[in-house]
Amino acid sequence: MTTHEVDVAVVGAGTAGCYAAATVARAGYEVCVVERKSESETGHIACGDALKGADAFPDAIPKSHIEPAFTNTAVDHGRFEIPQEDAVLDIPVPGELAVVDRWEYGKLLVEAAERAGATIHYDTVVQDVVQETDSGGTTGTGTGSNADANGSAGRVTGLRAVRDGEPVAYDCAVVIDGAGALSVLQDEADLSGATFDTNVDYSQFSSAYREVIEVDSPVEWDDALVLKPTERAAGYLWYFPRTPTEINAGLGFQMSEQPMQLVEGLKRDLRNRPEFRNAEVTDKLGAALPTRRPYDSAVAPGFVAAGDSAGHVNPTTGGGIAGAAYAGTYAGEAAVGAIEAGDVGEAALWEYNERVMDHFGGRYAALDVYNVFVGASGLDDLMGLLAALPAEKLSEALYSGSASVGWLLKLRTAVRSFGHWRTLFDLYETKRHADRLLDHYEDYPEHPEEFTGWQAQRDGLMDVIYATTGAEHKY
Ligand SMILES: Cc1cc2nc3c(=O)[nH]c(=O)nc-3n(C[C@H](O)[C@H](O)[C@H](O)COP(=O)(O)OP(=O)(O)OC[C@H]3O[C@@H](n4cnc5c(N)ncnc54)[C@H](O)[C@@H]3O)c2cc1C
Repeated sequence: MTTHEVDVAVVGAGTAGCYAAATVARAGYEVCVVERKSESETGHIACGDALKGADAFPDAIPKSHIEPAFTNTAVDHGRFEIPQEDAVLDIPVPGELAVVDRWEYGKLLVEAAERAGATIHYDTVVQDVVQETDSGGTTGTGTGSNADANGSAGRVTGLRAVRDGEPVAYDCAVVIDGAGALSVLQDEADLSGATFDTNVDYSQFSSAYREVIEVDSPVEWDDALVLKPTERAAGYLWYFPRTPTEINAGLGFQMSEQPMQLVEGLKRDLRNRPEFRNAEVTDKLGAALPTRRPYDSAVAPGFVAAGDSAGHVNPTTGGGIAGAAYAGTYAGEAAVGAIEAGDVGEAALWEYNERVMDHFGGRYAALDVYNVFVGASGLDDLMGLLAALPAEKLSEALYSGSASVGWLLKLRTAVRSFGHWRTLFDLYETKRHADRLLDHYEDYPEHPEEFTGWQAQRDGLMDVIYATTGAEHKY
């Protein structure tokens, strides 16, 4: 078996993996990205192609490098169609927004990581994680989950993979898991002895499908991200214009709900939109994405997870590219810091968790409260209420994670939302709980020893949220 010895092994050449690898390589360390896809397929990912906050991406791969993939920078708002109310709501989106050619963007990321000094191993499928055991040996010899091994598994020391049917091994100081949603690494590794979040269930994810569609004439809404609820509460459709004549159209639903026929659902909506008459579908892809709170902790000895593999997605919008870019960068920096300190243990990597929670993790966890609320509310009531609320305030609530609550009770809103006052009151209550949760995430522990106490308090706050909304426990 071929064995590669590197400082850091990164799994996945997506956004998180490429930003992590570029960061490690720029610091002068040897880093290899292990990617299951072929060189030509890498970067071809199911996505809505909307990039939020493109102006402030981390320097590890600067905006100037990925900018050639930005095909539409004229988008500046969300257009929310509410068929039940025969209403269209234009919601401003703060910050720089772009729709991108996602495949091209993916290729540019890989190119930047290579230019920084990272090596990419394509066609290489990671199948197992190697860990130390109490007895001084290692697990992960390709025999399945490490959790089945005798004795508890400890520090992660490498990977086992297959390339062209041949086994290949990676020995390293740190593994960065950038393998995306429902990462196989976390099935294989035994992380039960660490703080690493293992409270992960498919029901906390969304299943989504998208097509890239070419139309004859330019659409009228080429400056908007068009969104629309499906017939069921937890589903959503989108139409994102890559260009005025090339549209990314897709839909998804929360997997806690009854399964939805995604391909059929999209087809049905497309048939009813005159702008898609004679349209040609040029690409189709589907995938899962985490519409849940970020992992409470995404570190274990010798191991860091970043991007979708750690739930770094805005759970209300499904936007995960920016979170993956930042988390990948922070993961790379944490790995470098730990290697330089000669200690890759959990405490040495802990600052990574703090940076993620401080930057966007706490906000995403607070936004997840609205998902819990939506899952437990009646669709008609919610849509009626949505149509009545001031658009700029909705935007504030969606993108800050903490909006002022006074507006909810303003007379104009109250009058227009007549008939939905109960839902409005519930939303107001939910908002207060989300703010409390956000405050708690601002006190995210500085050391792993304080983690269990912090988690217990957070779970207490969540219990109140479940009781107020009447929702099932999500975690
Ligand atoms: C349908 C859909 C629409 C979306 N729309 C948007 C949007 O409009 N805007 C937005 O910001 N976000 C969107 N997202 C989310 C966004 O795509 C992800 O959050 C983002 O791509 C996460 O990047 P990542 O690097 O963590 O994972 P990924 O981009 O998924 O990369 C993971 C990589 O790991 C590789 N890999 C996986 N397993 C292995 C293995 N065992 N061995 C080797 N390699 C492996 C994969 O091949 C892949 O290249 C959408 C997601 C979906 C599914």
